[in-house]
Amino acid sequence: MAGLLQLEWDLRDHGWAVCRIAEGTAKATFAVSYCTDGLADLLSGVGGLYGASQLERFFFDSEPTEVRWVLRRQGADVAIAIYTFPDVAVSPDLPDSDGRLAWTATKPLSELAHIVLATAQQVYKEHGEDGYMTKWIRYPYPVAAFQDLRRLHLQHDQCDLPHDMTLPLA
Ligand SMILES: [Zn+2]
Repeated sequence: MAGLLQLEWDLRDHGWAVCRIAEGTAKATFAVSYCTDGLADLLSGVGGLYGASQLERFFFDSEPTEVRWVLRRQGADVAIAIYTFPDVAVSPDLPDSDGRLAWTATKPLSELAHIVLATAQQVYKEHGEDGYMTKWIRYPYPVAAFQDLRRLHLQHDQCDLPHDMTLPLA
């Protein structure tokens, strides 16, 4: 069995973050700018897969690169594909097939949700809501998207990993 999905969200100054994703030897690193609300979109995108949606798409703006996430539900699993496009000014209208496939893996939805939550919680632990706002500038920490995904994950998934995941609300 492959190891757990690894995901890091390294919040930097001035509305930048670095997102690292890895599974085994397949690794990718993306810069994320505050032109979109990246962490919120990631939480909401995964949360969307618990409803009627079989497919969620969102992108990070890596100025000028578009980093497009495509999450496709396949039963209990999610096929994750991340494509890059050289110019975000035009590419959101282009089909996935026009992008470069930068990273892909298929993981259980429960594992993806857990790892995304754990990563988002780590960001909260490190920075808090005020610190997050100071660094990310344009959007507050996505408390609602976190709570929604946490509720869905705990309700629908049989997950044996620890869930010490309550955000202290400021
Ligand atoms: Zn879990």
